[in-house]
Amino acid sequence: MKRIVLATSNQGKVREIKMLLEGWDVVAFTDILGPMEIVEDGDSFKANAIIKAKTIYEKLNDPECIVLSDDSGISVDALEGAPGIYSARYAGEKADDKANLNKLVDALKAKGLTQSPAHYTCAVAIASLYGIETVHGWMHGTAITTARGDQGFGYDPIFIPEGYDKTLGELDDAVKKRLSHRSKAFRLATLMVKDR
Ligand code: IMP
Repeated sequence: MKRIVLATSNQGKVREIKMLLEGWDVVAFTDILGPMEIVEDGDSFKANAIIKAKTIYEKLNDPECIVLSDDSGISVDALEGAPGIYSARYAGEKADDKANLNKLVDALKAKGLTQSPAHYTCAVAIASLYGIETVHGWMHGTAITTARGDQGFGYDPIFIPEGYDKTLGELDDAVKKRLSHRSKAFRLATLMVKDR
């Protein structure tokens, strides 16, 4: 079985992805290459995922590795799809999860809203001897203006998945593992690489 290298340094994502790829030999790129800044200047989740996977694959220069990258974010209908690909830096380049979540809450409140339909998107790029391939996953639900729970990361305390009345901050890992945009995309990605 080939080694899977994750092209992300976001600890929340690394934790979730390792759980999704249970049974695989998975490492974060930072464990091999150390910390590295990757400029994500694509105009879509897919473009950014490709930038990350390609950069790490070329740096590793090891045909035994398969690099998986994930670019993801939340799009809120009432905010014309914002923050979308800017989810990680919605409140500024160095903003943390809390500042980004607060900015989203403020943006909804500024429109006089307490909630809006929203969805998460995850694009996964796979870089291997086969070239670059991409898959996507989505999770639909509602963004609310009162943060609840401390499970997950990012915008999870203000996102209620369709069919539930609790936020992802309140629901346990197993529920998110079943429903999430990232689970869906990684399920497809693992099907694609399982025999390589
Ligand atoms: P990326 O690392 O450039 O893909 O940025 C993704 C950003 O989108 C994260 O920093 C979070 O703010 C947000 N995000 C993506 N997936 C999730 C999730 O599953 N839960 C909460 N926030 C997420």
